[in-house]
Amino acid sequence: MPPVRSYKQRSSRELAPVKEEVLRLFAEAKAFHDAGKKEYARRRVTAARRRMMKVQLRVPELEGKYCRACNAYLEAGVNATTRLKNSIMIRRCNECGAVRRRPVGVPRRLKEKL
Ligand SMILES: [Zn+2]
Repeated sequence: MPPVRSYKQRSSRELAPVKEEVLRLFAEAKAFHDAGKKEYARRRVTAARRRMMKVQLRVPELEGKYCRACNAYLEAGVNATTRLKNSIMIRRCNECGAVRRRPVGVPRRLKEKL
């Protein structure tokens, strides 16, 4: 039996190929989005997220580039609205209307109280 490990103990060698594929899928999603083929872009985002969730991989650079509710590829100012209100960044998906809020520029301690 293989040794039991926590998901945090995975080596980057295990995750690198997954991340590579996720980034490739997002590059395709961007291309389709730019070409106005939103459903095609959505399919790529869905596929990429499925791979990320399967191995519990986080890709910080893709944060905010897709809608967590409807999997649409989001581009600020095009199909997403970004507003700042009282140090809280409010991002809205203009495809489905989902809203995500996130505190910015607030120290960690304070952030937890919000
Ligand atoms: Zn959405």
